[in-house]
Amino acid sequence: MDELIVLNNLRKVYKMGEEKIVALDNISLTIEKEEFVCLLGTSGSGKSTLLNMMAGLEKPTKGEIIIDKKHIEKMNEKQLAKFRQKNIGFVFQSYNLIPTLSALENVSLGLIFQGVPKKKREKMAKEMLNNVGLGDRLHHKPSEMSGGQQQRVSIARAFVGKPKIVFADEPTGNLDTKTTMEVMELITEMAKENKQTLIIVTHDVEISSFGHRIIYIRDGNIEKIVSQKREVG
Ligand code: ADP
Ligand code: MG
Repeated sequence: MDELIVLNNLRKVYKMGEEKIVALDNISLTIEKEEFVCLLGTSGSGKSTLLNMMAGLEKPTKGEIIIDKKHIEKMNEKQLAKFRQKNIGFVFQSYNLIPTLSALENVSLGLIFQGVPKKKREKMAKEMLNNVGLGDRLHHKPSEMSGGQQQRVSIARAFVGKPKIVFADEPTGNLDTKTTMEVMELITEMAKENKQTLIIVTHDVEISSFGHRIIYIRDGNIEKIVSQKREVG
């Protein structure tokens, strides 16, 4: 067993004035290296909260998040930022690209913090944009690209630093059916090729069927886990 992510009794409660919202009740889960997991559930079930917590973007109220044997829940902001830079790529539903920067600049930006020199950054970003089929859009700004193209840029950004884990929160939520399939194939193929662990949040049963395992989330708990046939090799 090659465990990469271990969650123990994870709980997240948001306080809104007097009211308490239990976003995650009690989640325990293990995800293996190179696994492709889909978190499936209706809106408000706690999927994004769970993903953000695994990605070190939010702190749990209770419980443990152990990634690569390190306790994420015990890290301070500075340690977390470093950990994310080194290990984690994130794809958002709404792309979250920087509007004033070109595709090339958006993709190479994160590499600055990894200490990659300028020439090498540009080379890596260019290669990655080529891989996602945007070799002819290097100098376009987000507003000059379609939704599908913007999501490809954000995928290139997530993968360019070769992170161990890529998280994606409803990555095709704003895309049409054809582009959705293209983007899903792109993400899954890149993760497979680079032997990365992939965790995708979706409310769409069809999309979840891409995963090796589907984790059904309901009211902040795991309702059930369904394993699917996994290609060998
Ligand atoms: P999903 O991604 O499955 O749609 P979320 O994880 O975003 O669900 O939300 C789970 C629950 O937690 C919802 O009831 C939501 O309203 C609540 N919630 C999420 N984020 C916050 C927040 N920052 N403050 C207060 N409540 C929140
Ligand atoms: Mg969500």
